[in-house]
Amino acid sequence: MTSAAIVTRFAPSPTGYLHVGGARTALFAWLLARHSGGRFLLRIEDTDQARSTQQAVTQLLEDLRWLGLNWDNEQLVYQSQRTAIYDAIIDDLIGKGLAYKAYETPVELEQLRREAEIQKRAFIYRRPKWTEGQIRKWEAEKRPHVVRFAMPHREFRFTDAVLEKEIVVAAEQVQDFVIRKTDGMPTYHFAVVVDDAQMGVNHILRGQEHLLNTINHIALQEALGYPRPVYGHLPIILNPDGSKMGKRDRDKKIRLCAQMQLKNTRQTAEQLAASAGLETEALQKWLSSTSQQLDLPEQLAVMRSIGLREADLPEILVHDFRKNGYLPETLLNFLALLGWSPGEDRQAMSMEQMVSLFSLGGIGKANARFDRAKLLAFNTDASAQVADGRLLAAMRDFLSVNPDSPLNSADDGRLLAAMRLKPGFHTLRELDSVLRFLFVADESIELEAKAVEKVLLKNQRQGLGALVDLLELLEKAETWTAAALETAVNQYCQQKQIGLGQAAQPIRVALCGGTISPPIFETLQFMGRQATLGRMRRCVGLVGDAS
Ligand code: GLU
Repeated sequence: MTSAAIVTRFAPSPTGYLHVGGARTALFAWLLARHSGGRFLLRIEDTDQARSTQQAVTQLLEDLRWLGLNWDNEQLVYQSQRTAIYDAIIDDLIGKGLAYKAYETPVELEQLRREAEIQKRAFIYRRPKWTEGQIRKWEAEKRPHVVRFAMPHREFRFTDAVLEKEIVVAAEQVQDFVIRKTDGMPTYHFAVVVDDAQMGVNHILRGQEHLLNTINHIALQEALGYPRPVYGHLPIILNPDGSKMGKRDRDKKIRLCAQMQLKNTRQTAEQLAASAGLETEALQKWLSSTSQQLDLPEQLAVMRSIGLREADLPEILVHDFRKNGYLPETLLNFLALLGWSPGEDRQAMSMEQMVSLFSLGGIGKANARFDRAKLLAFNTDASAQVADGRLLAAMRDFLSVNPDSPLNSADDGRLLAAMRLKPGFHTLRELDSVLRFLFVADESIELEAKAVEKVLLKNQRQGLGALVDLLELLEKAETWTAAALETAVNQYCQQKQIGLGQAAQPIRVALCGGTISPPIFETLQFMGRQATLGRMRRCVGLVGDAS
C-alpha cells in the first residue's frame, strides 16, 4: 500500500509584492511537493477587502513565476469568490450550536479588553449569556454582528513537524474566535481551514507567526470532520544584527542617510523638509524616532532630496532582488539555506539538487540569519559559471524591470557581446552600470573631474599628450581588432618608454568618462573604429579647450 501523495500549498494574502519570507515559505512547500512527487497548490487569500488588490495578485504571480515556483492547480483559488461556500458551512455550524452570532460593537469589545487589562489578566472572549429577548431586539434592529466559533473549552495540542515538539494550549487560554466578519467575509482562520480541506492539502508549511493559530484551525477541523494536516512552522528570518527582517529596514536606511546628510552638509531639518515637500515637524519626529516610518511617497521624496537611489536600499521584496540584478536561481539557493541544511555542509545547489535533497527533517528550529554578503557571493559565483543563453535571458529580464537602462536598445548579439567583455560580476545591476557607456550617445558621457585631473592633466598634461598621439595612431590602424590594436598600442608604449596603463587610462577616460571599464582592447573592438575615435576626439577637444 502506498501512502497518500503529499499536497502542499502556498496561500499568500495579496497586499503587495512577495516578501523574501513568503518566498522562502513557498519554496519549502514547493520543494516538499516536488521531492515527493506530490502537488503544490496556490491559493489567494484575499478576504481582507481593504488590503487586497488585484495588482498585488498580479505582482505575486509574477514574482513566483520569476522564481520558477510553478503551481499545479490550473484554476487559481480566490477566497473572495468562495463566500457562498463558507456561508453554507457557517450556517450549518450555527444550526448545530457550534458557532453563534456575537453582537458587541467595537466600543464594547474595547471596554471588555480594557477591563481585562486593569485586572491584569489576558482578555479571553467567551460566549456571553444573552437573553432571547436581547437577541430578538438586536436582530430586529439589524445590529451588525460577527459569527464566532464556540471553541470547546479544553486543552488542545498538536505536534509541529519542524519544531519537532508538541504545542500545547491550555483550556483556560482558548477562546471563541471570529469566523465571519461584520462585512460578511470569513476570517482567515475559517477560510484557511475550509480551503485546505477542500483542496486536499495534507502538509502545511508556514511562518512561525501562525504557530498558535493552528490551535484554532485544529478545533475547526474537528468540528467540521476534516482530517488534520501535518503542520510545520518555519524559523523566523532575522537580519545579521538579530533584528527582524522587514520593510522597516528600508526606512531605517533612509533615516540613517538623511541624518548623515544633515550632519555632513550642515543642512537643517527645515531645509530638508522643504526640499522634500514635507512638514518640518513630521520630518523631525521621524528623524529622531527609531520606530516611526514614513509612507512610500514620503520615503521617495526624502530619497530624492538626499540623492539616495532605490538600488541603495536593502532588498526585502523578491522584486527588489530582481530589480537589483540577482539571478532567481541564486536567490532560491540562498533562501533554501535559510533554515534548511541539506547536509554535508552543502551550499551551492541547483534546483534539481534541492528537490532531490529536500526533507522536512532537514529544516532547523533556530532562527535564520539573512546574510547579504553570502547572497552576493552566491550571485558572483553563479554569474561566473552561467552559460550564454541563460545570461542573455537573465539580462533581458533585468532590463525589463529596469526600462530606463540604455542597454535596452541593444539587440541580443550586441548585448551578449558586451556582457562577455566583463565575465564575472556581482549583480546584473553592476554589469549594467559598467556597460552603459557602450550604449549611450557621446554627449551623455560625463568626463569625471577627478579622472581628468589624475589621468590627463597631471604631470604637464602627459596623459592628454598620450591621448593625442594615440588618436593619431589609431586613426591609421588598418585592422580594428583587439589583437591588432593591442600590438599597435604596445609598440607606442615601448617607443615612449611608458607603461601600458599610461596609454590605456587616457583612452578609458575618453570612452567612458572614468577609469574603470572592461578590458580596453576588447572594448575598442566592440565599440568600433568610428565610435572610438569620435569619443577620443571629443575628449581631446573638451579637455584641451578647458585647460
Ligand atoms: N494568508 C496567510 C498569510 O499570508 C497564510 C497563512 C497560512 O499559510 O496558513 O500569512
